[in-house]
Amino acid sequence: MKAVIIGGGVVGLSSAYYLKESGWDVTIIDKTDLSDSCSYGNLGMIVPSHFVPLAMPGMISQGIKWMFNSRSPFYVKPSLNVDLINWGLKFVKSATEKNVERSAVPLRDINLLSKSLYEALAAKPGFDFGLEKKGIMMYFKTPKVQEEEIHLAHRAQSLGLDVEPLSKQQAQALEPAIDLDVLGAVHYRCDAHLYPNKLIAQLIEYLKSAGVKFQTNSAVEKIIRQGDSIKKVVTANGDFEADVVVMAAGSWLPQLTKMVGLSIPLMPGKGYSFMQNNPAKQLNIPSIFCEARVAVTPMNGGIRFGGTMEIAPVNNRVNMKRVEGIVNSIPKYFSNVQLNLPQEKDVWYGFRPCTPDGVPYIGSTKKINNLFIAGGHAMSGLSLGPASGKLIAELVNGQQTSMDIKAFDPERFS
Ligand SMILES: Cc1cc2nc3c(=O)[nH]c(=O)nc-3n(C[C@H](O)[C@H](O)[C@H](O)COP(=O)(O)OP(=O)(O)OC[C@H]3O[C@@H](n4cnc5c(N)ncnc54)[C@H](O)[C@@H]3O)c2cc1C
Repeated sequence: MKAVIIGGGVVGLSSAYYLKESGWDVTIIDKTDLSDSCSYGNLGMIVPSHFVPLAMPGMISQGIKWMFNSRSPFYVKPSLNVDLINWGLKFVKSATEKNVERSAVPLRDINLLSKSLYEALAAKPGFDFGLEKKGIMMYFKTPKVQEEEIHLAHRAQSLGLDVEPLSKQQAQALEPAIDLDVLGAVHYRCDAHLYPNKLIAQLIEYLKSAGVKFQTNSAVEKIIRQGDSIKKVVTANGDFEADVVVMAAGSWLPQLTKMVGLSIPLMPGKGYSFMQNNPAKQLNIPSIFCEARVAVTPMNGGIRFGGTMEIAPVNNRVNMKRVEGIVNSIPKYFSNVQLNLPQEKDVWYGFRPCTPDGVPYIGSTKKINNLFIAGGHAMSGLSLGPASGKLIAELVNGQQTSMDIKAFDPERFS
C-alpha cells in the first residue's frame, strides 16, 4: 500500500517514520531540497509547558499595543489579504478562557506523548540529536508577569506537570555562569530540548536507509480527485498515485487543501533565530524571557537565540529591527551576556504554521476518504512532530489512537 506525504519538515518526516514502521510504501514530496524547512533553525524545545494556546484572553489587546513597536515580539501585518482577515476574525473569536480550558488537556497530552516518543527515538541506533531533559526556565522581571507565571505554574501542577516556581537565588544556583537580572523563574522540569538540525538530518538519513523515497525540488501543483478520493498528486517532476495522502506542508497547508476544495484557515508566523557559536558564558538550561517573548537554548556547544511572531503571508524579508529587539532583550535578563547585532546573512527565519485557535490540525476529513492532515503546530511543531506522525499512522491504519484527538479536528472551522 502506497502513502504519499506532502512536506518533509518534522511533521512529514515523523509521519513517514511511523507509516514505514507499519509496513507502508512511503514517498515524501517536497518543493525544496529539504535543507532548510522551519524544522531546522527553531529553538529545539520540547514543551509540555505550552498547554496554553496562542489564542487566549489578553492576546488581542497586547497584540494591538505591540503592533506600534517595530522591535516588538508580535506583529500582525495590516493587510486586505482575505485569508488574513478570515484568520484574524477566527483568532479574535477563539481568544477566550473557554478555548484555553478545552485545549489544555489535549495540548498537555500530545506534548507528553511526543516527549516519550523522542526518548524512544534517541535510544535507537543511528540517532544522537542532543536530547537533554533539564526542563526549561521561564524568567520574569515584573511583578505583573510574576503573578501571571506563578498562576500558570499552579495550573500546570494541577495538570500533573513537574513544575517548580523558583526565587531568583534558586534560579541562579542552577545557572552558575550567567548573572541573572530577574525577579524569579518557573522551572518546567517536564520540558526537554534537542538539536533540531541533527534530528532532521538523522531522520532523513534513517528514512532513506529504510526505503522511504524522497521526491525533492518538486512542488505539488495539482491534486486530482476521483469522487471521494484523491487519485493523483501532480508535480512538475511527475505524477504520484497513492492509496493515502498525508498533507504535512507547514505554513503552505491552505494552498494544498484548496487544491482538493477544502478551506483550512492557517497563517504563517515568521520568527527569527541566530547562533552564538563560542559563547564566553555557557547557558545550562533553555530559557524563555517572558516579557520579551525571547527564547534561548544551549545547542551544539553554542547558544541559539530566537523569537518574534510576524503574522503575514510568506515573504523572504529579514526585518533587522525585530532581530535587534531580540538582541536588546538579552542583557536585560542575562546581565553578563552582551551580543552584537548579527549580520543579516547569519539570521535564520522560519514560518510557524498558526491556526486561529492555537491548536494543531491532526486527522482525517469527511469529504475525502484517503486524505490525512497534520499541521498548524505554530510554536510547538518540533515538540509535537513524533506524536503527530504516530497519530497519523494510527489513523491511516484504522487503529485506536494513542490519545483522544477530537480537539485536533482539521475541519473544526468548516
Ligand atoms: C524562531 C522559531 C523558533 C521555534 N522554536 C520552537 C521550539 O523551540 N519548539 C517547537 O516545538 N517548535 C518551535 N518552532 C516551531 C516549529 O519550528 C514549527 O512548528 C515546525 O517546524 C513546523 O513543522 P512542519 O513540518 O509542520 O512544517 P515545515 O517544517 O515548514 O515543513 C513543511 C514542508 O512542506 C513543504 N511544502 C510546502 N508546500 C509544498 C508543496 N506545494 N509541495 C511540496 N512541498 C511543499 C515545505 O517546503 C516544507 O519543507 C519554532 C519556530 C520558529 C520560527
